[in-house]
Amino acid sequence: MKACALCNGIIEHRGNCSKCGFDTMDQGRYYDYYDDYSAYMDIEQIKLADGVPNSSCSDECLHLFLCVNCGNEEGKTIQFTEF
Ligand SMILES: [Zn+2]
Ligand SMILES: [Zn+2]
Repeated sequence: MKACALCNGIIEHRGNCSKCGFDTMDQGRYYDYYDDYSAYMDIEQIKLADGVPNSSCSDECLHLFLCVNCGNEEGKTIQFTEF
């Protein structure tokens, strides 16, 4: 089955801040932080079909990452991993 490796604690994803290039830390699922995610994200970045969160046909998970240096928050889609 496919599942998000971050949500399941399999891997720790480290990204890079788009502003300063520093490490970003996974803060968990984006929806747990923002109800109105569309106000914070541009649509190309989140790639949600018809703007429906947690769509059943989706095989990716949107996570919120926080830059440890400048505090910049950004969302990243995590592709599901086959287990
Ligand atoms: Zn996830
Ligand atoms: Zn930064």
